[in-house]
Amino acid sequence: MEFDLIIIGGGSAGYASARTAREAGASVAIIDHGPLGGLCILRGCMPTKTILRSSDVIALMRRAKEFGLLPVEAKADLAAINDRKNRIIEEFAQYRVEQLRDPGFTLFEEKAEFVSPHEIKVGGKIIVGKSIVIATGSVIAEFPIPGLDEAGYLTSDGVLEMRAQPESMIVLGAGAVAVELAQFFSRIGTKVTLIQRSGHILSKGDEDMARPVEARFRAEGMTVYTTTKLDRFTSDGALKTAHFTHEGKQKTVSAQAVLQALGRRANIDGLNLEAAGVKTERGHIAVDAEMRTSQPHIFAVGDVNGEHEIVHIAIEQGEISAHNAVCPDRPPRKMDGRLKTSVVFTDPPVASLGLTEKECRAQNIEYLAASYPFDDHGKSICLGETHGHVKLMCNPKDGELIGAHIVGPEAGELIHQLITVMYYHGTVADIVKTPHSHPTLSEILTYPAEELAGLVGEKI
Ligand SMILES: Cc1cc2nc3c(=O)[nH]c(=O)nc-3n(C[C@H](O)[C@H](O)[C@H](O)COP(=O)(O)OP(=O)(O)OC[C@H]3O[C@@H](n4cnc5c(N)ncnc54)[C@H](O)[C@@H]3O)c2cc1C
Repeated sequence: MEFDLIIIGGGSAGYASARTAREAGASVAIIDHGPLGGLCILRGCMPTKTILRSSDVIALMRRAKEFGLLPVEAKADLAAINDRKNRIIEEFAQYRVEQLRDPGFTLFEEKAEFVSPHEIKVGGKIIVGKSIVIATGSVIAEFPIPGLDEAGYLTSDGVLEMRAQPESMIVLGAGAVAVELAQFFSRIGTKVTLIQRSGHILSKGDEDMARPVEARFRAEGMTVYTTTKLDRFTSDGALKTAHFTHEGKQKTVSAQAVLQALGRRANIDGLNLEAAGVKTERGHIAVDAEMRTSQPHIFAVGDVNGEHEIVHIAIEQGEISAHNAVCPDRPPRKMDGRLKTSVVFTDPPVASLGLTEKECRAQNIEYLAASYPFDDHGKSICLGETHGHVKLMCNPKDGELIGAHIVGPEAGELIHQLITVMYYHGTVADIVKTPHSHPTLSEILTYPAEELAGLVGEKI
């Protein structure tokens, strides 16, 4: 019962770590109490993107007349939407379960608890690891809002089980999960009111990226309140009422359902981290760039370290942890935030790569920025998808691309061209010089790039 590497948690981060360690020839144990599959597959990325497809289609159907088509009556059936999602997710989950049950790993379908820095209790046994990776993910955080517990609320987990659609809903929060689900319900016909504390939705990013999404939400009938202070909830059984302050005035909004999408916290309950000597900071397991915790042979990857709640980053962290744990003779691998990328799957979607203007200002990093709107771009006009813009940011000295942000059609796909440019330390002139087919959405990237190349004095 001794392993080169023990991994607690078989989600995106844990499985990536296990696979990498096994490929390096290590003996690997995975502990996961289940249900097996991980958040991304069971209750995160994949189920939400599956149901969002239904709300995107219904929104397009409602625009039939605009495209010269006979109007159709579009009505949603939430039970059928979730049934489709369940069929799709079952297959994804099955594949992940097969990967975890591969005989190349020793899988313990039990809860893990540290006994000492190298020993873990699973079921009635103690297993020993030379190195250990904690990849236990996150859970929905609870917030002390007076009256909310008594009124009752939904979370993103509950939404994925719903059979009947509420007539009205209050959405608390405006991060990725909140805004995606708010638009989902609004588009399938629920009257949605979104209440957000910050001055704009998606408050971690730049304001100009959020405003076109807010405008589209409002144009589609959603009520969006920003810069609010939520005071309390009351309920009369049928309706739940939010009492909040907005622009200095007391306001109330009532709805059949409340979606609490204010955030998640690290899932460390019951791990007994004290026995392992692993320290936490503000509720998360703190790690360095090699993914090591305060105990150098113990690593923490994915949501549990609180760095980002994004799957491709969880996977990269998992791979880095395994390399550093089982390949001590090779140079250590470190997490590099330069290519940090995120996509919010609203319509219009928002994709963000590298530095934001907010970050540059906070860190005194010099930059040049240029934007170009989709409503002045041929292909977007043909498609009827003219909300939003592209913003590129470069180093003023040599034109190297240091940030790229897109709010607009296919933003989540378009950003990948720019990731490649940044990966190779390309410049804004490189974007202009690369061939772009016409007419495509991708062409729009060349316009702000050309403006920046002119400002930097780069030859094209
Ligand atoms: C609604 C929603 C939508 C999202 N959409 C996206 C998206 O579109 N794109 C994106 O990049 N990210 C998205 N995310 C975030 C993404 O899902 C997470 O960042 C990612 O899945 C985290 O992976 P993980 O491996 O850290 O944790 P998890 O996948 O949660 O894995 C943790 C595993 O640990 C196991 N475990 C926990 N404690 C123990 C214990 N004590 N003993 C044994 N086993 C244990 C659990 O059973 C679980 O299998 C979304 C999240 C949510 C909630």
